[in-house]
Amino acid sequence: MILDNFKLDGKVAVVTGAGRGLGQGAAWGFAEAGADVALVDIVSTDDTAARVRALGRRAAQVHADLMDRAAIQPVVEQVVRELGGIDILLNNAGIIRRAPFLEFAEKDWDEVIQLNESTVFFLSQAIARQMVAQGRGGKIVNIASMLSFQGGIRVPSYTASKSAVMGLTRLMANELAPHHINVNAVAPGYMATDNTAPLRADPARNAEILGRLPAGRWGLPEDLQGALVFLASRASDYVTGHTLAVDGGWLCR
Ligand code: NAD
Repeated sequence: MILDNFKLDGKVAVVTGAGRGLGQGAAWGFAEAGADVALVDIVSTDDTAARVRALGRRAAQVHADLMDRAAIQPVVEQVVRELGGIDILLNNAGIIRRAPFLEFAEKDWDEVIQLNESTVFFLSQAIARQMVAQGRGGKIVNIASMLSFQGGIRVPSYTASKSAVMGLTRLMANELAPHHINVNAVAPGYMATDNTAPLRADPARNAEILGRLPAGRWGLPEDLQGALVFLASRASDYVTGHTLAVDGGWLCR
């Protein structure tokens, strides 16, 4: 039956940046769909884990600074040790730095590129190797952005990194298809999380954004859950290399 194809029973999902915001909502969505979840973050994942366990699923809490390339392989090893394998990866952890292009600092370039782009590459590579060794396929979902499609203002490293995420999604889809690993991305629109708190706190920017947004409201972490579960499940087995906007209509305006 079609709804059974959306179930994630018996699957293990790795979610980066699962302590709060969109990653926390994603972890809960995957657990509600039946998956055990590995929660990777530099901050506490206790709240996220408590709800995953209350849903009757296993949660592995993996404390790691994903800015550090040396942390990546130990993350994979801990998840495999605690949960037995990996079927789904959600590359969600990300940061943003805002400053005018002419004044943008080197550190704000390097750190954003490191986490949002390089970590997506190296963690996907490490987990795809694990999936290939397991021999049962897998699903990789990357979190892109409106700035994978648009230029934006005052966020050069973020725009560069999220544009790279969309390209990398396509490359990985091509190379991993023979291994039955699907690679897609979700591009959230303007979502109410810590990442966008400065925009919502600025009355002029807030009014500007809401005035252009067909849905007329900021998105919430739960608004992403349907798309994420779809792309993590058998229901999307013939979808790969795609970036799906979940944006309240922002891009069609
Ligand atoms: P958030 O700041 O609320 O959450 C980000 C999470 O990533 C946090 O739990 C944080 O601790 C974790 N993280 C940050 N640095 C880390 C590191 N070095 N190692 C491990 N974990 C780290 O942000 P969010 O809005 O939930 O963003 C999640 C993703 O969605 C990001 O990739 C972001 O760029 C993207 N996104 C957000 C929006 C939005 O409107 N909020 C829109 C488009 C895309």
